[in-house]
Amino acid sequence: MNSYEIDKPNTPVLKEKKMRYDVVIVGGSAAGLTAAITARRHYPGKNILLIRKEKKVSIPCGIPYVFGVVGSPEKNLIPADDVLKKNNMDTAVDEVVAIDREARSVKTADGKTYEYERLILATGSDPLVPPIPGSDKKNVFAIRKDVEYLKQVVLAVEKCKSLCIVGCGFIGVEIAEECRRRRSDAKISIVEMLTHCLQLVYDEEFCLKAEETLRKQNISLMLDEKVKGFEGGEAVEKVRLASGGAIDADVVIFGIGAKANVAVARQAGLEIGPSGGIQVNRYMQTSDKSIFACGDCAEKVSFFDGKPSMLKLASIATMEARIAGANIFSTNRVNLGVIGVYSTVLGDQAFAAAGLTKAQAEEKGYDVVVGASESVNRHPGCMPEAAPLKVKLLFETARQILIGGQVTGAKSGGELINAISACIHQRMTADDIATFQTGTHPALTASPIAYQLVNAAEEAVRELKAR
Ligand SMILES: Cc1cc2nc3c(=O)[nH]c(=O)nc-3n(C[C@H](O)[C@H](O)[C@H](O)COP(=O)(O)OP(=O)(O)OC[C@H]3O[C@@H](n4cnc5c(N)ncnc54)[C@H](O)[C@@H]3O)c2cc1C
Repeated sequence: MNSYEIDKPNTPVLKEKKMRYDVVIVGGSAAGLTAAITARRHYPGKNILLIRKEKKVSIPCGIPYVFGVVGSPEKNLIPADDVLKKNNMDTAVDEVVAIDREARSVKTADGKTYEYERLILATGSDPLVPPIPGSDKKNVFAIRKDVEYLKQVVLAVEKCKSLCIVGCGFIGVEIAEECRRRRSDAKISIVEMLTHCLQLVYDEEFCLKAEETLRKQNISLMLDEKVKGFEGGEAVEKVRLASGGAIDADVVIFGIGAKANVAVARQAGLEIGPSGGIQVNRYMQTSDKSIFACGDCAEKVSFFDGKPSMLKLASIATMEARIAGANIFSTNRVNLGVIGVYSTVLGDQAFAAAGLTKAQAEEKGYDVVVGASESVNRHPGCMPEAAPLKVKLLFETARQILIGGQVTGAKSGGELINAISACIHQRMTADDIATFQTGTHPALTASPIAYQLVNAAEEAVRELKAR
């Protein structure tokens, strides 16, 4: 008889050569790993299996830095197996190729079948590559979260004369700067179809500051420009532009976004949402109540108006994973929608944003009031590491609640944006923030009198009163 059952927690049950787990998670990056840890915290007695394709898991947000300060893809790894082992969970490095919803099981490329009581899909996203002629040429890359592939990209950058990056969002600018750090002698250009770099995240004055920082590093920006095609022999040599000209490029890197990886979900007949992600409800449950989805593969709605959102961020993936992992056996956590919180460093300046830009707010029909404040982030200003920090806050006039914030300057802005995100999440008003109790210290923050977050809110209160 090959069927036995052991009720010891975390021991898989072997039944007719099928492994049965209480919880199976597909995907081992930001969302999958966080969902697994959360499920373990909330359901300590359950046996949990995580299946992921790759042996080594890249830190996705660290990928731009493998070209520069981190040095190599091998140094940019999540210690995933240690985390899973420490939390008493099983791992399989394998690819799920099918889900049998009736039998509640998944089949893998290695021919294994795993039965589940609850399944969490965290299959992530793949980079977007538009159907531009010549994009299949050698040395045209998109950033895949795959260590061996990334090693090839780094090698190509190491040898290149002219690098062209397509897309001037966060990924594009970070890769450009890090490639400049590695290759002071190479020509580096970024082609962007919008008018400004980082335009989807910042108001114009912040975009201009970012552009100035990039140009100072001899990174050429081709804005309001589109790529028409890639030319050359077997390998790329030139990028043809829609405006008529062409630039030399022996390496091209796309950084224009990602599309949800829903192949397995689609095969299983799960509903797919309007933005192409796996449709989920506010509990991260799919159209099958035993299957949850989280991270880049899951459909998203905006926190502000509930409409579909294309945002894909690790911070969103882990938030959703904490909801999915906690809800698998009893739904209690609710996803209020995505705010969108970003931060990066360009030159030695932090650029961070949360929620809506002024243009996005106006497009959604909000009447907005802005408050801004800039001061040095230490007191007195001669303290070590003192640097200017600017905060801009955007309030919706009718309810006076915070709907967006942008920060630039001192690197401490990277943490301040998280406080701004919490204020948006709690729908705080300008008055709430103006009377916010802040902890301040000469060596750590601005003076309590000049605290930028509070003073930006005060400026907005003044403007609201003037109306
Ligand atoms: C260059 C770059 C920089 C970024 N920087 C930031 C940043 O600074 N901040 C930020 O918030 N976000 C950033 N992001 C976005 C962030 O990387 C993603 O939002 C995040 O990786 C999403 O995590 P995920 O777990 O949902 O998906 P993914 O990271 O895509 O992981 C998907 C997982 O599913 C597995 N998988 C897929 N299909 C199967 C299958 N059939 N069987 C088994 N396993 C499967 C994969 O092997 C992988 O383990 C960046 C992205 C890139 C590309």
